[in-house]
Amino acid sequence: MEKIIYILILIMLENSNFYKDVNTIYSPTSYDFIVNKNNKLTSDYVPYDLEVIDTKYSLEGKYLRKDAKIAFENMASDAKALGFNIICVSAYRSYDYQEKLYNNYVKDKGFYYADMASARAGHSEHQTGLAIDVANSSLDYDNFEDTKEFIWMKNNAYKYGFILRYPKAKFHITGFKYEPWHYRYVGEKIAKDIFDKNITLEEYKKNI
Ligand SMILES: [Zn+2]
Repeated sequence: MEKIIYILILIMLENSNFYKDVNTIYSPTSYDFIVNKNNKLTSDYVPYDLEVIDTKYSLEGKYLRKDAKIAFENMASDAKALGFNIICVSAYRSYDYQEKLYNNYVKDKGFYYADMASARAGHSEHQTGLAIDVANSSLDYDNFEDTKEFIWMKNNAYKYGFILRYPKAKFHITGFKYEPWHYRYVGEKIAKDIFDKNITLEEYKKNI
């Protein structure tokens, strides 16, 4: 099954506009800007208001922009009170770090796999300082979908301004395969709208 999905994704990548006609974002001013395979940040973009996440809810040394960090800590704290352990395993990543990650994928598994599983430097939402990967206490984000924490996040993250950024079967729109562990801060109002309409950020932006 997984192999079939992989082949389908390869065909879609071949025939898509991903990484073609790329738009460059120089200085994002809102929380709903899109960074994807057609919209990239510059190599020197570093958010000005990064703050470290409390290690009660995070691995050490993980940073988000201030509002996203506060929202994440509030969410993780409320979840914890209900018996759900939500831990940040990855947050802000610099352009240089993303370049290394992507190149490692290319080296290990080839170019197509790298484009399916990772983002080229400048095209990763993690450079925005508004994206976060989470796991439960096992820290095994790959299996996050099978946890009770995932069900909670799926139903409640929007209340704190986060959206499930790469939903199932939306690869042709987002350019990324389903990632149950990856959330993006867009602010409460937009997150609620996206949640209620069950759409992606790309679809939301197209319709405003
Ligand atoms: Zn991620």
